[in-house]
Amino acid sequence: MSQGLINVAYIGATILFILALGGLSKQETARRGNLFGMIGMALALLATVIGLVTSNYVLLIIALLVGGTVGLMLAKKVEMTQMPELVAILHSLVGLAAVMVGYANFLSHAIEFTGVEKTIHDIETYIGILIGAMTFSGSVVAYLKLSGKWGGKPLLLPARHWLNLGLLILAIYFGVQFVEQAAQGGGLFPLVAMTFIALLFGIHMVAAIGGADMPVVVSMLNSYSGWAAAALGFMLSNDLLIVVGALVGSSGAILSYIMCRAMNRNFISVIAGGFGSGTPSKSSGPATEIEGEVTPINVDEVADLVSTAKEVMIIPGYGMAVAQAQHMVSDITKTLRKKGVNVRFGIHPVAGRMPGHMNVLLAEAKVPYDIVFEMDEINEDFPDVDVSIVIGANDIVNPAAQEVPDSPIAGMPVLEPWHGKTTIVLKRGMATGYAGVENPLFYKDNTRMLFGDAKESLESLFKLVS
Ligand code: NDP
Repeated sequence: MSQGLINVAYIGATILFILALGGLSKQETARRGNLFGMIGMALALLATVIGLVTSNYVLLIIALLVGGTVGLMLAKKVEMTQMPELVAILHSLVGLAAVMVGYANFLSHAIEFTGVEKTIHDIETYIGILIGAMTFSGSVVAYLKLSGKWGGKPLLLPARHWLNLGLLILAIYFGVQFVEQAAQGGGLFPLVAMTFIALLFGIHMVAAIGGADMPVVVSMLNSYSGWAAAALGFMLSNDLLIVVGALVGSSGAILSYIMCRAMNRNFISVIAGGFGSGTPSKSSGPATEIEGEVTPINVDEVADLVSTAKEVMIIPGYGMAVAQAQHMVSDITKTLRKKGVNVRFGIHPVAGRMPGHMNVLLAEAKVPYDIVFEMDEINEDFPDVDVSIVIGANDIVNPAAQEVPDSPIAGMPVLEPWHGKTTIVLKRGMATGYAGVENPLFYKDNTRMLFGDAKESLESLFKLVS
C-alpha cells in the first residue's frame, strides 16, 4: 500500500477515535461511540499490517493469531465483576510492549540517527522504557489488588516519600549517563538500571495506595498506558500510535482528575499514597465506636414499604454486580413505576470497581437513562424520599466519611440515604466494603437490613410486588 493511502487511513482512524471518545461521554451515544472506536481500530490495524511494518509476514500473522486468540478467550471467559482486573492486566501489557520495543530499538540500531536527532531518539527510548516499566509493574500490582490477591491495606514504608524522590533522582542520573554513553555506542547498563528503578517505582506507587483510592489508580494507569503507547509511537516513528496514545493518555488524566474530585482528594496526595490506610490517629482512640443496633427486615415488610411509597431511590453498588441483580432491579423498577411509584437511581462516581460500572450494568438491563442520576444531582432530594434501597453498596453510603474525622474515607462525598424516611440495605452479612471501614448507616434508627444475596432477595421481592 502506498504511503499516501496509509496516511489517509491513519487520518480516518484518528477521526474515528475522536468521534468514539465524544460518543462515550454520554450514555445515549455510548454504543455509537464504541462502534466508531471498533471501526477506527480495524482500519488502523489493516493499514498497519498491509502498510509494510514488516517483511516477515509469517511471524506477524502467527503473533496476531496467538494474541487474538488469547484476547478472545479472555474476553469470553471474564465475568463482569472481573472487568477491572482484566483492564488492569491489559494495561500492563501495553507497558511491557513499550519496554520490549524500546530495548529492541536500542539493541538492533534499526534506525541510524546522528547528532541532535540521535540524542532526541535516545531520550525518547529512555522515557518510553521508563513509562512502560512503571505502567507494567504498577498495573500488575493493581491487578493483584483488584482481584483480592493482594490486600487492600496500603503498604506504608517509613520515609516512602524520600524513597520516591531517591528513585526519581536516580532515574534522572541514569538518564544523563545513558544519553552520554549511547552517543559512544554504549548505554546498556544505565538503561537496565533505570528499568529496575521504574519497575520498583511502579510497584511502590500502587502498593502505597489505600483501598478507597484505587479508582484513581485505575484511571491513572489507564492514562500511563496511553503515554506508553505514545512513546511506542515515537520509537517506531508511527504517527497513529502517537495520536492514539496521546488521546488515551489525556482522557485517562482527565478521568483521574474527575475521580479525585469525586473523592475530594488531591491528585498528588493520592499518588504519594497513604490514604485509606485504616489507621486511626493515636490521640482519638477507637476510630468508629458505632452506636445503635442493626434491625433486620423481611421481604414481605419490604414489599409493603415500597408498594405504599411515593418516592423510591435505588442505590446500586459493587454487590449488585457480584449478584448480577441488575435485571431483577430493572424488572422491579418497571413494576413499581407502573403502579405510580416514582423510582430513581442514585449513582456514586466510584460505585463498583471501575468508572461507570453501575451505569454499564443498568444500561445492560435497559433501565431508562432519564431516571438514573449522578450523586451531585440527587443528594439533596433524600429528605423527600420514602424508601431508599441500597443494593450491595457500602463505602459509597458510609456516613463515617462525614462523621468520623480520622476515618480512612473522611472527606469523601457519599450518597446520604439516612436523610430519607427509611433505608433498606441488601447485603449478605455485616462485611465491610472495599475500603475496609465499618458503616454506621447499618445501625441507624431508620435503616433496615435485608440479609441475603441481592439477586435472591430481589427475586422474592419481585414476586410480592408484581
Ligand atoms: P463496596 O465494596 O464498598 O461494598 C460492596 C458490598 O456489597 C459489600 O459490603 C458486600 O457485603 C456486598 N455484597 C457483595 N456481594 C453481594 C451479594 N451477592 N449480594 C448482596 N450484597 C453483596 O462497594 P461500593 O460500590 O459501595 O463502593 C465501591 C468501593 O470500591 C469504593 O471503596 C471505591 O473506592 C472502590 N473502588 C472503586 C473503583 C471504581 O473505579 N469504581 C475501582 C477500585 C476500587 P456482604 O459481603 O456483607 O454481602
